[in-house]
Amino acid sequence: MHELGITQEILKLVLNAAEEKHAQKIVCVDLKIGEFTAIEPECVRFYFELTAKGTLAEAANLRIQSLPLRLKCQECQRVLVPEAPYSFKCPDCKVNNLKIIQGKELYIESIEIN
Ligand SMILES: [Zn+2]
Repeated sequence: MHELGITQEILKLVLNAAEEKHAQKIVCVDLKIGEFTAIEPECVRFYFELTAKGTLAEAANLRIQSLPLRLKCQECQRVLVPEAPYSFKCPDCKVNNLKIIQGKELYIESIEIN
């Protein structure tokens, strides 16, 4: 999987932000990961702990919030929260005209430093 590369990028961003603020250490990192990104939160956590060793983020509490997939029907505007295995068909209109409005995110929500 590509979680290692992603986690290294996240760590780099977090460390840059902390260094800019002359932080002593990073206390907390809030991460949002969309359910439809194919990124395993537990993998990210594992790699984060591994790659953060010896950095300001070594003892950081990594909080990961998973954002469920949300689809919006372009016909009737209905918002759906489908469960895996995902169906990309509106149960009302029976058409395949759904747009992903949530679930592909990957971003750092906030960083707490000391
Ligand atoms: Zn519909």
